[in-house]
Amino acid sequence: MRIRRLKLAGFKSFVDPAELVIEPGLTGIVGPNGCGKSNLLEAIRWVMGEASPKSLRGGGMDDVIFAGTAQRPARAFAEVALALERTHGDGATTEAEVVRRIERGAGSAYRLDGRDVRQKDVALLFADAATGAHSPALVSQGRIGAIIAARPAERRAMLEEAAGIAGLHVRRRDAEQK
Ligand code: ATP
Ligand code: MG
Repeated sequence: MRIRRLKLAGFKSFVDPAELVIEPGLTGIVGPNGCGKSNLLEAIRWVMGEASPKSLRGGGMDDVIFAGTAQRPARAFAEVALALERTHGDGATTEAEVVRRIERGAGSAYRLDGRDVRQKDVALLFADAATGAHSPALVSQGRIGAIIAARPAERRAMLEEAAGIAGLHVRRRDAEQK
């Protein structure tokens, strides 16, 4: 799985619609302090299903919505879309688009290729591809220290996510409940 494009609107400091095209190879994002580099990484984690506002440096999930400045009023919603290239068993590639939208006071909704899906469907899509909001593929500022200090059980969860088996645990818990 490869990220091809990230589109944001109303997400944190990205109040106007913005698009980041990620070509194969190395992509670097540079800019002065506070210009929104970390916000871009947080947008990727958010659309992958991040459920903890704290890990997105917010108090509540509505804090990801553009809060307004002296010049511009706050927004009522935020939307992030991630276009993914998926490689199948036979080597063929297809594109999938995951969208998450949040409305102030009304919570989040997800779409996969235009269909309404649950947060869990999105989380499983990424878990099976050995990535996701909590995977070690995404390293936020300050996380290296946190990984070193993690308890063994937390470190095991990271390894399982990296190995692509985190989705199996979710399905097993589901099956046990039925
Ligand atoms: P650094 O180099 O210091 O790590 P950075 O490029 O990673 O900086 P970010 O942390 O991504 O910068 O962006 C911080 C900016 O985003 C701040 O100016 C903050 O006010 C703004 N911001 C965060 N949340 C919102 C929001 N909900 N509405 C408007 N602006 C926001
Ligand atoms: Mg930063």
